[in-house]
Amino acid sequence: MAVLNRLIMCRSAASLRNFCTESTEAGLRRASSALSSALPVENSKGKGRSVQWVFLGCPGVGKGTYAARLSSLLGVPHIATGDLVRQELSSRGPLSSQLADIVNQGKLISDEIIIDLLSKRLEDAQAKGETGFILDGFPRTVRQAEILEGVTDIDLVINLKLREEALIAKCLGRRICSECGGNYNVACIDIKSEDGRPRMYMPPLLPPPQCESKLITRSDDTEEVVKERLRVYNDMSRPVEEFYRSRGKLLEFDLPGGIPESWQKLLHALNLDDHDDKRTAAA
Ligand SMILES: [Zn+2]
Repeated sequence: MAVLNRLIMCRSAASLRNFCTESTEAGLRRASSALSSALPVENSKGKGRSVQWVFLGCPGVGKGTYAARLSSLLGVPHIATGDLVRQELSSRGPLSSQLADIVNQGKLISDEIIIDLLSKRLEDAQAKGETGFILDGFPRTVRQAEILEGVTDIDLVINLKLREEALIAKCLGRRICSECGGNYNVACIDIKSEDGRPRMYMPPLLPPPQCESKLITRSDDTEEVVKERLRVYNDMSRPVEEFYRSRGKLLEFDLPGGIPESWQKLLHALNLDDHDDKRTAAA
């Protein structure tokens, strides 16, 4: 799975060009029309509809966690393309053998396939009566952003950012229990305040005693690999950020720390303070 994660995460500018040529124009038109029909019509405009948001953020920033929390708060599906690929691979779905070939040959997954998976997921959502969505991992390229923009209105793109030193420490502190698969983090991040930036403290997420002696580190969580992963991500995401910034849809959010410090501030930035109050009151 680490190989697959890396495949999905790391697309350098050079490989991206090859990767774009792998999708034919006709294939992309077909995929984008499938995507369009997978989106509920009554949902494509109007003020009363559910949110249609996109989450951007580099690997390790906690994008999936915040997207999942917001999706349960707002009652909209959290659609992570990484999960869709993993699910398709482990299923016997129509794309699974094609996907397995691509992954085994170390190739990149084309826009067409990603859009097909996304369309299928949105159709399922529609069938279940779900509306709105929070996308995580899509769009990853300007091409994908253009296709998405062509078929629906994205309200907001939230770009989660964390100071690089904290991000690297967090990635290097990751541990997995070799027995139960639990995810932990042994990094205790404490960056003193300087240059007007507040102190940043993120406590470790320590394992329970039964996992302590079974912790392993992912082989690709080395400082060199983590830095390279960030560099590749930044190169790739900058044009996507610019795409949405120029359309006035990009919200930059600097995470002030871990979830306890960041959650309320994020809700505030999204004008959702009331939502959390209601949920807390109901709970
Ligand atoms: Zn364990």
